[in-house]
Amino acid sequence: MTVPENPYPQVTVDTSARAVAAADAWYMVGLSGIPSADNQGHTSNAGFVTTGDGVVVYDALGTPALGFELIRRIREVTDEPIRYVIAGHYHADHIYGLQAFADHTDARVIAQSRAQAYLDSDAAHVRLAQRRDVLFPWIDESTRIIHPDEFFDDEYRFELGDKTFRLLHAGPAHAPDDVLMVVEETRVLFAGDIVFDGRLPFLGDDDVNTANWVDRLGQVQDMNPSFLIPGHGDATSEAVRAVSFTRDYLEDLREHMGRAAQDFMSFEEAYEGGDWSKYENVPAFEETHRRNANAVFLEMEAALF
Ligand SMILES: [Zn+2]
Repeated sequence: MTVPENPYPQVTVDTSARAVAAADAWYMVGLSGIPSADNQGHTSNAGFVTTGDGVVVYDALGTPALGFELIRRIREVTDEPIRYVIAGHYHADHIYGLQAFADHTDARVIAQSRAQAYLDSDAAHVRLAQRRDVLFPWIDESTRIIHPDEFFDDEYRFELGDKTFRLLHAGPAHAPDDVLMVVEETRVLFAGDIVFDGRLPFLGDDDVNTANWVDRLGQVQDMNPSFLIPGHGDATSEAVRAVSFTRDYLEDLREHMGRAAQDFMSFEEAYEGGDWSKYENVPAFEETHRRNANAVFLEMEAALF
């Protein structure tokens, strides 16, 4: 099957695609840690589904070179045209790979409408400049932000070949524009960054909405997915357990920080007064937990007034 010549630096980290048994779905798992030149920016997951009439891709990875790797992995499996790329949310570790799809395929990029605010913001340019700095040569002057071809608001359902895809707006949660993608026939769920299995989630520095997030995780549990591919970390056939892990963590933070905010404590007091021992050995604790606690504290405080 034909793959165009690689115009990007050659990726050498593991990008092999793993198959979801009997579901026509595949996924790539990023490395742990924050994006750096060492991991070549490969810190997030992406996946794709074949339908007999075209491929649907969920997320595009963190650099154009990785997006190109994803195209190459798709071509190892099928020569069906790549029809859609669903942007799970417009965060830097998931979007710069869209450039490879824009330049080498006819795929339409679909995102939730709140992505527009990010695209219009200074933050989008600041973040790209920061990535050009820390992820050179993977992100460089030729890297650009690809805008969606199409937006949806709450829900978007479409059929392609032998499958039905349902896109659900799950935000504002991890991001304002979080999107879940469910394949109805196989119940495979691409959950993006609202589920983190086996590591603590990153709640972001602002805009987090854990109230809505917890609700959405309840909905995901009700769907009872056969297989769940999160935005980071391992995929699993034990979707309900994986979702519970993220949900319990968020609920713990909400309960503790909610009480502290009600008692007019400072964040320092609230944080020091918490027993976080059950999370201490969970990956990403050092990098995320204190910031997560602070984000939830601010959210709970704002909710009081
Ligand atoms: Zn992410």
